[in-house]
Amino acid sequence: MRNREENSFKIFIDMDGTQIDTNKYIQDLLIWIARRGHKMEGVVSSYNILRRSGYSIKNHLIFLGESVNTARMGEKEAEKYFADFSKYIFSDVEPILKRIQNLGFCLYLLTFGDEEFQKAKWQKLHLLHPFFEKTFFAHKGQSKGEIFVRETSSDQVVYFIDDDENWLSQVKEMAPWVNGVQINRCDSQLATGSSNGWPIIGSFEELIKLILERGV
Ligand SMILES: [Mg+2]
Repeated sequence: MRNREENSFKIFIDMDGTQIDTNKYIQDLLIWIARRGHKMEGVVSSYNILRRSGYSIKNHLIFLGESVNTARMGEKEAEKYFADFSKYIFSDVEPILKRIQNLGFCLYLLTFGDEEFQKAKWQKLHLLHPFFEKTFFAHKGQSKGEIFVRETSSDQVVYFIDDDENWLSQVKEMAPWVNGVQINRCDSQLATGSSNGWPIIGSFEELIKLILERGV
């Protein structure tokens, strides 16, 4: 086991679609919003518009015609309703974080989107908090690649786990020393194995195998 104080063994892990089933959460959230008296069709189509520019529940409710005050209260109600987020955590996450830590890696959360919305989700994932050394919330106008350029260097062993290949290719370009790994939990079209210059895995168990094969 390595001494974590050395701090040169780092794993950055994305949140949405990687550690939590965000699709399921969004599905539940949109149903909850529709129950406030909005047509489901409109709730879904407006979500698809707003998600591109950094989504928040409050803005969604305003977009659907609610007043700023009602929307603000609605957002608070939603936070209360969805207070238990443990059901959205993929089952292999917690045990694997423990094992990664035991291998001597420092764990960092790296997520992108509307900062408040992301932080609200992370807040509810308190089960996972003890594993993470630091959290990075890349927001509008920022990229994940920038975080690696700022926080890591080529003499360190750095991994980046994400479900989104756009981020993986951007990080590879900006910080070529980073070992990108794509995790695919739901896309049956996306084969596991090597592709795009980085491995694609189907579960966190395979990540441990990869790390051990490469040598820590
Ligand atoms: Mg993601």
